[in-house]
Parts: sequence; structure tokens; C-alpha cells
Amino acid sequence: MSLGATRVKYEQWFLDEQKNLLYLSAPKYFMQQLCRFRLCNTMLTCYQHTIDRRERTCILCEREEIEDEKHLVFDCSAYAQLRIVPKWEQLFELISSFDGPDSAKMKSFMNQDNQEDLSSFIHHLLRMRKAKLDMFHHHELLCESEHLSDTSSDHFLPTNPRLDDFNSD
Ligand SMILES: [Zn+2]
Repeated sequence: MSLGATRVKYEQWFLDEQKNLLYLSAPKYFMQQLCRFRLCNTMLTCYQHTIDRRERTCILCEREEIEDEKHLVFDCSAYAQLRIVPKWEQLFELISSFDGPDSAKMKSFMNQDNQEDLSSFIHHLLRMRKAKLDMFHHHELLCESEHLSDTSSDHFLPTNPRLDDFNSD
């Protein structure tokens, strides 16, 4: 994604000049991660320039969509269980009846008042992504080493990390 395209995305999805996000009580690490997420500074596949633009899709679900922030937050089935954890479920209530373009929906979601819980949601979203990708690649390696890579029929979806992990912070 070019710098210009990233800037357009930042303005459409994340920027809200009315919000001052510097004085929140969430753990510093959560806030740093939220800032990076907002600034399009993550390892999501949409930013992996070694991959052809059309191929930068999510490998953790069946939707074959580009893996970007919006896909993670709203659409990817791999994170469905996070969206229904009670303290994060309410983050989605705000936009449950949202009737407008996706970019405006994303912007409302990312700039809602409850930035503390939003930061912990994004933190766990990225953590779950990493855990699932690690399992995915581990499984791929196993398949290669056992010469099983031609078993294309069993499409692998890693199991989910335990949900108790997400209720503790
Ligand atoms: Zn997905």
C-alpha cells in the first residue's frame, strides 16, 4: 500500500481531530498498540509488499478478503468469539444499527468514547491473530515435513486460544 493510500485510509477510518487520546488510563502497552493500529503501522497482510496486492487476503477465514484493519475488527470469523466477550460486545452496540458507508462505520467504531476497552480489544485481536498464524504456520511446517502437503481437502483452521485469557485484564 502506497504512502498516499495509507494516508487516505487513516483519514477515512481513524482520524478524529476532536479526540484527544493522550490522557487515557488504559495500560501504556495497550495504548501504544492502539496508536500503531490507527496509524496503519502493523504487520497485517495488506501491508506486506512482497505479496501481490490482490493476494494479500486473510488466511484465517473463508471470505478471501484483503486482511486489513476493517476485516479484523468487523468481518473475520476467526475473531468472532472476541466480539462477544461482554466487555467488548458493548463496543459494537454503538455501530449495530449503523447505516452508512463502511469507512464511516469504522471511523465511528475507532473513535468511540470508550477508548480504554477499545484498546484492550485491539490488543487481544492482534494477540489472537499472532497465535492463530503461529499455529497455522506450525501446521504447514508439519505437513511439509511429513509430505502431507497434498492433502488439500482438509482446509486447516487452527483451534482458538482459550477464552479465559481475555477476561483477566
Ligand atoms: Zn479473515
